[in-house]
Amino acid sequence: MSTIFPRPEETELFTQRQYLPGKTCPKCKGQSIAEYPVLKVTGWTVIQKCQDCFHELESHPTRFPLGTNYIPWSSLLPEGESD
Ligand SMILES: [Zn+2]
Repeated sequence: MSTIFPRPEETELFTQRQYLPGKTCPKCKGQSIAEYPVLKVTGWTVIQKCQDCFHELESHPTRFPLGTNYIPWSSLLPEGESD
């Protein structure tokens, strides 16, 4: 059981996607671009992604998409040796 979030009562969970009219995908020329938060290994990120081919147009880190201050364990790991 999670100590950060309570167990959800819904059977399916999803994030709200905000569609961005007027944007065009540079890969497939599709018009269906949506912005929504995702959890990457580097932490919460708001991305703009084509819903037709899943090309990522833009992304920027955010710390508060769900009203929490989640810091991923990966951010606490030391940097690796560079070759
Ligand atoms: Zn596309």
